[in-house]
Amino acid sequence: MLSVHDTYGRTIDYMRISVTDRCNLRCIYCMPSGGVRHIPGKDILEDEEIAQIVTSAARLGLRKIRLTGGEPLLRKNLPFLIESLSAIDGIEDIGITTNGLLLKKYAPVLAAAGLKRVNVSLDSLRTERYREITRGGDIRDVFEGMYEAEKAGLLPIKINMIPIRGINDAEIEDFARLTTYTPYHVRFIEFMPITPGKLWAEKRYVLTGEIKERVSSLAPIMPVKVRKSGPARYFRFEHAPGVLGFISPLTHHFCSSCNRLRMTCDGKLRPCLFSETEVDVKSAIRNGASDREIERLLRRSIEIKPEGHLLLRSETSFDHLKPMSRIGG
Ligand code: SAM
Ligand code: SF4
Repeated sequence: MLSVHDTYGRTIDYMRISVTDRCNLRCIYCMPSGGVRHIPGKDILEDEEIAQIVTSAARLGLRKIRLTGGEPLLRKNLPFLIESLSAIDGIEDIGITTNGLLLKKYAPVLAAAGLKRVNVSLDSLRTERYREITRGGDIRDVFEGMYEAEKAGLLPIKINMIPIRGINDAEIEDFARLTTYTPYHVRFIEFMPITPGKLWAEKRYVLTGEIKERVSSLAPIMPVKVRKSGPARYFRFEHAPGVLGFISPLTHHFCSSCNRLRMTCDGKLRPCLFSETEVDVKSAIRNGASDREIERLLRRSIEIKPEGHLLLRSETSFDHLKPMSRIGG
């Protein structure tokens, strides 16, 4: 089977594609309350353009696609896009990362279109706190959405939780307990300095070491192997149906096993979340680039993938970074 490697020998087989920069929430760690300036509709990649790029990527050896945003379920005809991507030779797995609000409506049709799994971002299990963190979201929609996703077979459902000190870190134990009575994969993700603002300046991030310690104080946890685990390290409580994941962009350099390429919704290939270096594939396509030329641009962005980042270095500045909703988290 074909595969493609970067300069540091990492196999690149995974592409995260932002399909919209719009969102129906304004999470405090991701967006300012007034939202961010939107990219004009004409600059957003069309379905056919995304499919053309993914076809070239699959030819190079990329196998897994994750659609994200903004909120991917806000994109018109998302099922149609998923259907065309899942028909591409070589693409084995398509997932989405979503806030889950619209899953209730779309889970069955997405599954029928070829979607394999969902990651749901959920940072509180409490109605009021959820509303505050998301600036207006109704948690009942998320729970109903996860229920529909489960019924539609989009398994395993992964919950992404970002503990932020003084905001929701008191719920770390509650999220961990969820795995003792549900099959969910609960993944704790270290808060990253994208849209850094006040929360980052106040050092509100909670590091994996502390999260793990607090989780293990409930009961011993043991490492487990999970297929397609990506950057997460997985554990479970004895006899628990669910799994605990830890994703540590700050403290644990998952860079050494990074297998991904990103594409923004306006068609910029981005080798790393923390570097502003981009390769403009949209302009190439709109100027009539051949598949060969697109492959060349994909290879180029893989070649320039940096070895890693130094997020916790105090002299590192993040002011230049685009909002997460635009890059695609
Ligand atoms: N709207 C969808 C959602 O919320 O799942 C997809 C886009 S969102 C940008 C993708 C993921 O990025 C979410 O799991 C979110 O929690 C995460 N995220 C956003 N800002 C982050 C930050 N500063 N640090 C860590 N993760 C972040
Ligand atoms: Fe929207 Fe997702 Fe960002 Fe929340 S984390 S504001 S749901 S893009």
